[in-house]
Amino acid sequence: MSLYADRTFLIDTENAFKIGPQIRALEAQGHKVVKCNLGEPDFPLPAHIREEVKRQLDLDNTHYTDPQGILPLRTAVAKQMSETRKISVTPEQVVVFPGGKPPIGLSQQVYCNPGDEVIYPSPCFPIYESFIRYVGAVPVPLHLDATRGFTFTAQDIEALITPKTKLIYLNFPSNPTGGLADRAQLEQISAVILNRAQADVRIYSDEIYENIIFDGGSHHSIASVPGMAGKTIIASGASKSFSWTGGRIGWAAFPTAEEAKVFTNLNINYFSCVPPFNQEGARVGIESPESCKTIAAMTKEFQRRRDMVVTALNAIDGISCQLPRGAFYVFPNIEGLVERLGIDAAYASLPPETQRLTTPSTLFQLFLLYRWHVAVLDRKSFGRVGSEKMHFLRISIASAYDDLAEGVERIRKAAEDKSGFMDFVNEGAHLS
Ligand code: PLP
Repeated sequence: MSLYADRTFLIDTENAFKIGPQIRALEAQGHKVVKCNLGEPDFPLPAHIREEVKRQLDLDNTHYTDPQGILPLRTAVAKQMSETRKISVTPEQVVVFPGGKPPIGLSQQVYCNPGDEVIYPSPCFPIYESFIRYVGAVPVPLHLDATRGFTFTAQDIEALITPKTKLIYLNFPSNPTGGLADRAQLEQISAVILNRAQADVRIYSDEIYENIIFDGGSHHSIASVPGMAGKTIIASGASKSFSWTGGRIGWAAFPTAEEAKVFTNLNINYFSCVPPFNQEGARVGIESPESCKTIAAMTKEFQRRRDMVVTALNAIDGISCQLPRGAFYVFPNIEGLVERLGIDAAYASLPPETQRLTTPSTLFQLFLLYRWHVAVLDRKSFGRVGSEKMHFLRISIASAYDDLAEGVERIRKAAEDKSGFMDFVNEGAHLS
């Protein structure tokens, strides 16, 4: 009998966290690492939210609370979602979670039987794919085309829908690509889903970057398309909008109150409830007009960094980078560099057992980390299935402007350092 259950190693991970110890080890050796790995806004928690959390602590609001989420927060979420999506959402449909992440995997546990198919964009937030095999479902990646702004058409998704399609993940604005969907596109995608998918299909619309949109653009939710609210889970949270990743507050509105009760029971089983003082802080974040100002200032700064980073990356021979329209990542294509630096040839020369654990973009990512001390992520960190021959990096722009400028300068130098790269590969210490 083996120690671990068979499913244990079917779950994947989020490399943005996993490389933390590697970064800390380099820092302990005295290196200054430019950290562009985590999707964590580098702004402080806005004062009006912080004050409310402190006030709640002083009121001793520190005990168990409603496992579905406190009613004032669910009411605020329902109101905000109803107004912004032009649909009717009630507090009974809303469930609060410790962050935007938990409802992603819980949805697969609730909706998917073994053999059911899950469609998800690729590249994507890795947790969508991570859970699929763990619950015995079948991954169906919807590969996004960089030349089309990392969006997809109705025809693209139509080709993937089968009678077994149970869950479809959407994420606009998108991590890692910054892609945005317009209303017409969501209407076309909806028409296909309504025509082709089973009536009980669920769309998991991850809208956690709903407030971080550049160039005056606006957020559209698939739930706003007639006929879709009854099939769509709208997920969002406090981590990105309020620069509050440590608050661990996220929420989702389910198509029915009955489904919300099913998720509430999972909350009871896993963690009972979410800290009430932080829930009150999130309520203030949603309700206070101050939040518009802090979000606007943060987004303006992200846009300034985006413009600098994308321009600098596009000046590097072998790299081409789209302008993201939202969120706070850039996702350059490094195909030319993979060829120019001999990364593909180095990969081809590795023993098969090492090749299985790495990719060309992983080799460059690790070269950047260990030799040039810039922490970015490789393509496979954002969906593995079918991505082996795709060469991209994700650079989070949620670091200070000057640090990012330094980071891109190091990437430029690394892109010229062919002999350093060969040494790094020959040394063989950090190839996967
Ligand atoms: N969804 C997407 C698309 C994300 O990028 C993230 C975090 O990076 C999350 C969900 C999870 O957010 P949280 O930190 O609130 O769990």
